[in-house]
Amino acid sequence: MAETPNFPSPIPDFDAKEFWDGCNRGELLMQRCAACGKFRWLPQPMCPFCNSLKREWVKVSGRGKVYSYTIVTHPVHPAAVSRVPYNVAQVRLDEDPSLILVTNLVEIGNEDIRIDMPVQVVFEEHEAGVKLPKFKPL
Ligand SMILES: [Zn+2]
Repeated sequence: MAETPNFPSPIPDFDAKEFWDGCNRGELLMQRCAACGKFRWLPQPMCPFCNSLKREWVKVSGRGKVYSYTIVTHPVHPAAVSRVPYNVAQVRLDEDPSLILVTNLVEIGNEDIRIDMPVQVVFEEHEAGVKLPKFKPL
């Protein structure tokens, strides 16, 4: 997918800063509870399973499967006018079924996307110093 000037960049909040820093280094990091060991997404200060505030960031394989997707044909932002039609997908990571990221699929035509197809993360430079995690077919 060609990058589009003026397309909004993510604004990392406190809980997600390490995730975005990892993307900019080419690493996909997921937050995991350091007490009970369960992954969670989205990043948050407290474990939803055991209420611990202890957390760690773990580099994951970046492999997963397409959980769901849609094709956007109506631009909802002025910067998307030149981008439509484009896909928005949910990818379920292999490490844990609760890790489902909203992303775009690249290096594939929209008509060739299939549910459950295996994919691998790639990091695309959105603007200088800002990389976004996207996924390509394996
Ligand atoms: Zn926990």
